[in-house]
Amino acid sequence: MPSIQSGKVLVSGANGFVATWCVQTFLDAGFSVRGTVRNAIKGKHLKRFFASYGDKFELVVVPDITAPGAFDEAVQGVDAIAHTASPFHLAADDPADLSGPAVQGTIGILESARKYGQTVKRIVITSSAVAVTTPKDGPLDEYDWNNGAVQAVANKGADAGNFDKYCNSKVLAERGAWEFLDKHRTEVGWDIAVLNPPLILGPVIHDVSTPDQLNTSAKMMFNAFTTEGPTTHGGQWANVKDVGRAHLLTVMTDLPSYVPLSAVNKKEGRNVNRFIIGGQGFTWQDMLDAAPTQYKKGFPGSINTTMRPRDMDNSRSQEVLGMDYTSIHETVEETLADYERRGWIKPFAASA
Ligand code: NDP
Repeated sequence: MPSIQSGKVLVSGANGFVATWCVQTFLDAGFSVRGTVRNAIKGKHLKRFFASYGDKFELVVVPDITAPGAFDEAVQGVDAIAHTASPFHLAADDPADLSGPAVQGTIGILESARKYGQTVKRIVITSSAVAVTTPKDGPLDEYDWNNGAVQAVANKGADAGNFDKYCNSKVLAERGAWEFLDKHRTEVGWDIAVLNPPLILGPVIHDVSTPDQLNTSAKMMFNAFTTEGPTTHGGQWANVKDVGRAHLLTVMTDLPSYVPLSAVNKKEGRNVNRFIIGGQGFTWQDMLDAAPTQYKKGFPGSINTTMRPRDMDNSRSQEVLGMDYTSIHETVEETLADYERRGWIKPFAASA
C-alpha cells in the first residue's frame, strides 16, 4: 500500500502520554490531526497546547470506545489512523477491565474504518513489546508473541499477575487486528501496521500537573529518580518522541498492503508490518548512571551486563521505516529538565 505524505490523521486517545507526542509529530510534519478524547474536559489542555496549529487540529469526543460504532463518525474523511487508546495500568482485578477496551477499541475502530473509512489508507496500531516478549534464547524480534501471558490469564483469571493481565490485553488486541485484516482484506482500501515499543520514557506534554497524575511508564521513571526503590530491575525502553516519530514514519512509508496473520506468527520472508521500536535493555541504575552528576546516582557501577535485560532486535524499524534512536543520556537529561521545569525535582547543587 502506498504511503501517505499529507492529509488528515485520526489519533485515538489523543490526551495520553504517547498520543500527545504523536499529535505533535504529525502536526509538525504538516499533517492535520483529528484527536479523540473521552470527554470535552480531557480535550481542554490539547486545545490550548495545539492552538498555534489553528484548524489543523480538531477534537472529537468518543465517550466509550467499546460501544458498537463508537468511531463511525471519527473515521470519516481521514487518510490514516493511529490507534493508541488503550488502558495501561497494573491495577486491574478483572483481566477484562484491560482486555475489554483494548480488544473492543481496536476491533471497533477497524470496523468503523471498514464501513465508513473510504478515504483511509493506513491504520497504525500502538501495540507493545509486551505483545512480543517470550522466554526464548536470543534477541526478540517481530515474529515472537507473548503467548505465556495469555495462557496465564486463561488459567488464573483474576488471580493472574497484574503485568500478565496488561500483556494479555495487548496480545489479544493486536492479534485481533491481524485476524480482522485476514477476514476483511478484500473489503477495505487500507492496510495495517503495528508498532511494538517497550516501556516508553521521556518528557511529558499531555495534561499533567503533579507527578501522581503521570501515566504508568513516566511515573516509573519519576520514581527511579525520587524514591529509593530497587535499581537493579528494568526491562527494555523506548523514547517517547521516537515513538511519536515511528507513528509518523509508519504512515509515510510504502509497506506491503496485506500481511496475513500466519506471516506474523512465523518467519515467512521479512514482509511483516510489525515493528519493534526502541528495545534497548536497561536497569533503572542505567538510567541513574545516564543522568548528570547533580541528580540521584544510586549505586554507580553496580550493574554488569549479565544483570541487564537483553536488547530487542529493532533492525526492521531502522531498515524499513528509517528509524534512528535517541540515546539514553539524551532521554534522561530531557526528562529531568522537564521535571525541573515543573518544580518536581531539584538538582543537588541547586537544593544545597
Ligand atoms: P496513557 O494512560 O497516557 O494514555 C492512554 C490513552 O488511552 C488515554 O487517552 C486514555 O484515555 C485512553 N484509554 C485508556 N483506557 C481507556 C478506556 N477504557 N476507554 C477509552 N479510552 C481509554 O498511556 P500511554 O500513552 O502510555 O499508552 C498509549 C498506548 O501506548 C497504549 O495503547 C499502550 O498500551 C501503548 N504502550 C505504552 C507504553 C508505555 O510504556 N507507556 C509501552 C508500549 C505501548 P483517558 O485519559 O480518558 O483514560
